[in-house]
Amino acid sequence: MLAQSLLCTSTDSTGLCCGQCQSCLLVQAGTHPDLFRLEKEEGSKVVKVDDLREFNRKIFLTPQLERGNVGIIDPVDDLNRSSANALLKSLEEPPHGSHILLVGERWMSLSATLRSRCLTVRFPLPPDSAVVRQWLANAPADTAILKRMRERYQPDTTKQQDWLLALTAVCLGKEDPILLAERWQKLGEELPDLLDWMYGCVVYLLKLKTQSLEAQKTEPNSVSEKSHATLTNRLSTSSLLNLAKLTIETRRLLDSQAKPQMLLENMLASWYQGSQSVSAHKTHRIGAVT
Ligand SMILES: [Zn+2]
Repeated sequence: MLAQSLLCTSTDSTGLCCGQCQSCLLVQAGTHPDLFRLEKEEGSKVVKVDDLREFNRKIFLTPQLERGNVGIIDPVDDLNRSSANALLKSLEEPPHGSHILLVGERWMSLSATLRSRCLTVRFPLPPDSAVVRQWLANAPADTAILKRMRERYQPDTTKQQDWLLALTAVCLGKEDPILLAERWQKLGEELPDLLDWMYGCVVYLLKLKTQSLEAQKTEPNSVSEKSHATLTNRLSTSSLLNLAKLTIETRRLLDSQAKPQMLLENMLASWYQGSQSVSAHKTHRIGAVT
């Protein structure tokens, strides 16, 4: 919708596309000559530097219609260091009248130099996952980010539920973080998915923290809801913010070939320590009252 609005030749007073002009029709048909998208290849973990160079070449071509070129990189989270450097060159001297849209979920994982050259637009998700699922069911096209959202918002898959239960067990001191790290590092290719899920989980717990006390009082029903309630009780907001930062950092280090076992141990130890500090504080408070 943003790309279409940038290319539309008769936007309304708010800058939104008309949906009827030649440009809009071409965008809807997926054949607009000045709009192109860079996604990582199927089966590849990162966006390749050669693909990024091709993207740079296209963005500098003379546009065929009147509104400039629009290039989309989705997701920008999957750029490795050399691709990010190649992108930086285009962002440093952008072609006049053209736009580069970087779509991502882990904005802070990009380098500060790259971020400083962009205008950031945040699209927060509604806290009610049913609303997100309904929106996804009618979403227009299957882009990379929508595919990931569909995976994340499908009703609990067994795999994700297993991850959640294991994480809750670590926080309750019922599962050894080192042994779990050993088990999880065998996930291999699925490790980025695990960390993306973990990041989503931290964000979700932060959202639960900000809900009104009234909303928190409703009894959790499903196994997942119970785990989420346990984790929200045991982890303070500052612990959760630290875990969010650590997850982004771990995801970045994972791409740079660091040892997964060590990264996971560090990560899980932080979940455990975070959950212990809150319960220690609570015990102390109760002790003081009695
Ligand atoms: Zn239009």
